[in-house]
Amino acid sequence: MAKITIEIDQQDAQAIERILHELAHARTKHPLFPRIPTSQLSILAEEFGEVAKDINDDKDYRTEVAQVAAVCIRMLR
Ligand SMILES: [Mg+2]
Repeated sequence: MAKITIEIDQQDAQAIERILHELAHARTKHPLFPRIPTSQLSILAEEFGEVAKDINDDKDYRTEVAQVAAVCIRMLR
């Protein structure tokens, strides 16, 4: 495990906490993440589509945005 210390404002800290929460949830629910970029892209596209749906349905889309960010983190590893 690594530990990082950074100074950011409260709203950014809450956003990052939200992303880390979704990342942990995704890793528990789907421990295996594909290595094939096109498969990763499919997952990212699905989550992006869920953001679009929530926006179109006039719902709070922030959880889906955090899930997009969590997928991006998994893609960056
Ligand atoms: Mg989602």
